[in-house]
Amino acid sequence: MTAPASLFIDGAWAPSSTGETREVRCPADGELIDTVSEASPEDVHRAIAAARASFDTGPWRYLPAAERGDVLLRTAAILRERSDEFATAESKDTGKRFVESKIGMEDIASCFTYFGKLAGQDAGRMVDAGSPDVVSRIIYEPVGVCGLIAPWNYPLLQASWKVAPALAAGNSFILKPSELTPHTSMLLMDVLTEAGVPAGVANLVLGAGAVAGAPLSEHRDIDMVSFTGGLVTGRRIAASAAPTVKKIALELGGKNPNVIFADADFDAAVDNALNGGFVDSGQVCSAGARIIVEESIHDKFVDALVERARNIKLGGPFDDTAESGPLISAEHRDKVTEYVRKGIAEGAELRCGGAWGEGELKNGYYYLPTVLDNVRRGMSVVVDEGFGPIVTVETFRSEDEAVETANDTDYGLAGAVWTQDAGKSQRVAQRLRHGTIWINDYHPYLPQAEWGGFGHSGFGRELGQMGLGEYQEAKHIYHNLRPAVTGWFPAK
Ligand code: NAD
Repeated sequence: MTAPASLFIDGAWAPSSTGETREVRCPADGELIDTVSEASPEDVHRAIAAARASFDTGPWRYLPAAERGDVLLRTAAILRERSDEFATAESKDTGKRFVESKIGMEDIASCFTYFGKLAGQDAGRMVDAGSPDVVSRIIYEPVGVCGLIAPWNYPLLQASWKVAPALAAGNSFILKPSELTPHTSMLLMDVLTEAGVPAGVANLVLGAGAVAGAPLSEHRDIDMVSFTGGLVTGRRIAASAAPTVKKIALELGGKNPNVIFADADFDAAVDNALNGGFVDSGQVCSAGARIIVEESIHDKFVDALVERARNIKLGGPFDDTAESGPLISAEHRDKVTEYVRKGIAEGAELRCGGAWGEGELKNGYYYLPTVLDNVRRGMSVVVDEGFGPIVTVETFRSEDEAVETANDTDYGLAGAVWTQDAGKSQRVAQRLRHGTIWINDYHPYLPQAEWGGFGHSGFGRELGQMGLGEYQEAKHIYHNLRPAVTGWFPAK
């Protein structure tokens, strides 16, 4: 069988140079979706060369920024038109419910719309050089050739947070989606071409991280690498990017606190604790996996949470009665299983879940929503990211203790605080060392608001103005209007 043409290099679809392929299967039932090409390092080098040439010679980077913005707005319009097709592909790759993928498509289109409108709005700034004879200004230029590496949990959404600002700023890029979820990134390439992105600017390589991803952080012709994924991979990428002193942005994991005070709106807090912990089977970087509840309402809160968690109906992407889906792979479910087992061995009390799906669910990689009560700081389930449908419950007695507990993590991606006391909510929000804080809510994000982490959750920001700035270099141009001899080195 000839290898399928699933790599997009220099404006054309191409097979892998080695003929190597990978089967992509739906995690909901193991069904074979497709067989795609796996890029060899040579294929990746070819993609890098195409991106380099397109960046060095233009025309993309030299277009007026507003024209690039128009291309992004066209991209958003096509994505909206084809949203069912994209959502179907995303659901098959990830196993997530079709309705969730549809919501995701609107988020993805909104990301392109946001950066499309932002492009060209900021032409830099004048700087007061302290002399009427000097014009001094700051301009923003594209960084160059960007390696964009995305994870499997929100494949196209995470890719769009990188692709849209990278294009808006005038860069060329090579996108490497997760080997488990390539299809929506493949579809995106044709949409970008149709919208007007020139050949060579947008390139796509598929394959395992160590083969298809590693050259993006190592190669000297890549100017920047933006990575979303796990902490271990992030460290590896930071180390391999160091010799060529690339700009890097890392969006890594989280161990996110959901702090619930006794005076919170009880029903809303329980409901959102479920959403925070179990949406997308907890495979969300900002999942509210650490419930930290005021001691006086602990029993009532956990009882209510457990009752509802037990009733969450799992099912495949196109099962209209399903409320959540499977984990991404057998390997990931094994990790989640071991994570829960270890937590229980360390003393966590299993209140519900802690098992694989039964019956019809046996064909997929389902894991039941799990509540681990009476955990303590320092236990592995409190320290490590589980990335599955697991919440742990800790308690506190005072505002200070709540803050101290919520900040006791190496991560710092997101967190929430629930209280009807506005002053307390603001005080706590300001003291939490996490990149996003929700007050009386969980999970919403906005394309115009920066997203990113403190500590081991990474550095750099996606979305918002800083999300565009990540893909720009600031240049100072100093113009002396009255050139003169300085006399510093006297003429002899
Ligand atoms: P992962 O680190 O295993 O893989 C992410 C991507 O990196 C994949 O495309 C993979 O192929 C690639 N990769 C692996 N090794 C590589 C290497 N040596 N060089 C270059 N690329 C390499 O992560 P995952 O399992 O796909 O995603 C889950 C993780 O992503 C979780 O930890 C989650 O918290 C994190 N995440 C973070 C955010 C955020 O915004 N901070 C968003 C989504 C997911």
